[in-house]
Amino acid sequence: MIRVEHLSKKFGPIEVLRDVNAHINRGEVISVIGPSGTGKSTFLRCLNLLDPPTGGRIFIEEQEITAPNANVSRLRQKMGMVFQDFNLFLHLNVLENLTIAPVKLLGKTKALAESKARELLHMVGLAAKEKAYPAELSGGQKQRVAIARCLAMDPDIILFDEPTSALDPTMVSEVLGVIRRLAGTGMTMVIVTHEMQFARDVSSRVFYMDQGVIYEEGPPSRIFDHPEKEATRTFINRIRNLEWHIEDYEHYDIYALTTEIIQFCEKHFLGPAQRDALIHLAEETLLMCLGTDNTPQTLTRREILRETGGINLFISYSEKTQQIHTRFTAHARLNTILNNAQDADGLGMMIINGITKGKAVEKTEGEHVVLDLPL
Ligand code: ADP
Ligand code: MG
Repeated sequence: MIRVEHLSKKFGPIEVLRDVNAHINRGEVISVIGPSGTGKSTFLRCLNLLDPPTGGRIFIEEQEITAPNANVSRLRQKMGMVFQDFNLFLHLNVLENLTIAPVKLLGKTKALAESKARELLHMVGLAAKEKAYPAELSGGQKQRVAIARCLAMDPDIILFDEPTSALDPTMVSEVLGVIRRLAGTGMTMVIVTHEMQFARDVSSRVFYMDQGVIYEEGPPSRIFDHPEKEATRTFINRIRNLEWHIEDYEHYDIYALTTEIIQFCEKHFLGPAQRDALIHLAEETLLMCLGTDNTPQTLTRREILRETGGINLFISYSEKTQQIHTRFTAHARLNTILNNAQDADGLGMMIINGITKGKAVEKTEGEHVVLDLPL
């Protein structure tokens, strides 16, 4: 039904969409997900030519809408759009919001437009509100009116741009419920959303957009449970990272690291137990590898540290699975990790095993030694 070939969009020198290719079949529900700023809204706005593409072609039922002689206004009527901030006519009541366009643009009689409008208001659960003005409605009600208004134009396709992201959390489900119901009627829809559970339930396919392209696409079960690409995985699992690199002793500032870990935990609502575990893990691994400044080996360690490009401490937290993972990497020459003089008694490793409940794994990757430390 929709075919997009090599679509690109630039705003001045900035290329927001690079090379978007897609096909959408009649009756499909496509969820578009991805980090903000990657061009999801721009993609929707290009689809209905609210933003003219700078390159590529778009076909709707084999008609090229990007052709110079395309009938753009007819196309717009076939393709409804629901925005994040409702865009209702504030000076018109609910019924008038639903009837104005069908009367003016489709040439429907007022009576016909009104009976259709009432039917649609009934469908979105707002039959009692036809005389209300937008200012008298809640956000969820406004968005349901906006969806009914869109349907009043008998669209073949509806594009939703984050329809619930301006709503109070308590109102999200009433709007998703209406969209879900529409999906059940076989309406072709493209929905940009951050509601992952909803996207999983309702979509036939999911487009993950990143870096100006559809980076990965597939059925929800694959995109959500077995994404193939790293960026998709990071986004799906809502992974937050903290990376710490030490190249020389001058940057070996354990207090600064501790502060960053505390801030990281506060930002992602991790509790004191997890925070303390992370701080201890960082302290112990660094201490084992670098020792303290006044150890006899410091001089050689200093040199090795500089020559081997330093050591890395990487903390990742998945908001979805709530798992925290710490990964420590050092050059093998610095691998004083398990059997160094500092740790001859194995105390450091005992502490680490205690914190990770024995799940710590040491392995070699090329010239580096890696400690995997799941919490
Ligand atoms: P998303 O919906 O994925 O968050 P958008 O499509 O809104 O992303 O925006 C993608 C990028 O394009 C952003 O960097 C945004 O600043 C830029 N952009 C969007 N619209 C315009 C515009 N009209 N003029 C200039 N830049 C724009
Ligand atoms: Mg957007």
